[in-house]
Amino acid sequence: MNNPSLLILPGDGIGQEVMAEVRKVIDWLGQKRDLKFDVSEDLVGGAAYDVHGTPLHDDTMARAQSVDAVLLGAVGGPKYDNLDFSVKPERGLLRLRKEMDLFSNLRPAQCFDALADFSSLKKELVSGLDIMIVRELTSGSYFGEPRGIFIEDNKRVGINTQRYTEDEIDRVARSAFEMARRRNNKVCSMEKANVMESGILWRDVVTEVHAADYSDVELSHMYADAGAMQLVRAPKQFDVILTDNLFGDLLSDTAAMLTGSLGMLPSASLGSPMANGRPKALYEPVHGSAPDIAGQNKANPSACVLSFAMALRYSFDQGAEADRLEAAVESILGKGIRTGDLMQSDGGKAVSCTEMGDAIILELNATL
Ligand code: NAD
Repeated sequence: MNNPSLLILPGDGIGQEVMAEVRKVIDWLGQKRDLKFDVSEDLVGGAAYDVHGTPLHDDTMARAQSVDAVLLGAVGGPKYDNLDFSVKPERGLLRLRKEMDLFSNLRPAQCFDALADFSSLKKELVSGLDIMIVRELTSGSYFGEPRGIFIEDNKRVGINTQRYTEDEIDRVARSAFEMARRRNNKVCSMEKANVMESGILWRDVVTEVHAADYSDVELSHMYADAGAMQLVRAPKQFDVILTDNLFGDLLSDTAAMLTGSLGMLPSASLGSPMANGRPKALYEPVHGSAPDIAGQNKANPSACVLSFAMALRYSFDQGAEADRLEAAVESILGKGIRTGDLMQSDGGKAVSCTEMGDAIILELNATL
């Protein structure tokens, strides 16, 4: 049987540095767990623009469509800020998401006990927190037509349209229910059915999909504004939160910050199943290219390593290895081994990006 295939796109800034640490984990899995991947690497973002004059070459796009999973570092940086909109580094990432039709964005908000002090909430509210936000990613207000800035009665008017078809809601709802079955079997769907027709349809379709195929999963509904309040009041009441593109953008950032540093946050974006039954998938840390620390060996590689753990779980059916990797990261943090972003003002010496990667490998070795 062929090895599973993985396309690595380190991108710009610290994307390059954190991806080098993921490479160590990939090598470790091959050597110590006999789990081998066909890994290829390519350019995205500013790095691709520098070579090809475009943030994503067509060949790279075609390769992304053909592999089992894509792992991306980060794109962007001040060097590219003044480029034309059409070739900005972020356009490369948006093209990947759009052409792979990655409609289901998974944003875990998990608080490692060792980092509970980093949350802006009280420790007891976040300690042990483990939420998964499933956000619709390819439709809704960010894509709906008509959109634009128009002139009416000699005055400007800005228009965006919140538009969802029932098929779009159906497929992301299924994604959330499937996710819940892998976790604690609980979904809370959030919309604004009290004031938006798209919200009424959202609630109806989610309820129908649930009744037809997922009645074993506990389903509740909440207005998104109330959901935001509950997220900061008592976040542990949630397991899977299902929501649309616009509300998901806000709710996932809110939930993520409950857990501490950007350097710890992974994400996955999934599409429809391919011929082999696996979903099209792009995994990436939530953070950007961090120009302020790029090239200084200071970045925390955990978010990218944890994104690869998500790939192990959701694309490669290697849940046990994903658990092992996540446990290794948690154990290191518990020992006080931390990059600068996770140091308290009274803390000791921060480790470098490469030292953090080495510590993860040592911890993985200790599990054998
Ligand atoms: P950023 O996430 O790059 O950085 C925000 C802050 O968090 C910085 O102080 C940075 O040093 C810190 N930080 C981020 N990741 C870290 C890590 N792994 N370890 C330690 N510290 C970390 O956001 P920004 O500064 O707003 O954006 C910088 C560039 O990245 C911009 O060009 C932006 O467009 C781009 N960006 C890309 C993505 C992406 O590729 N998905 C996401 C966000 C921003």
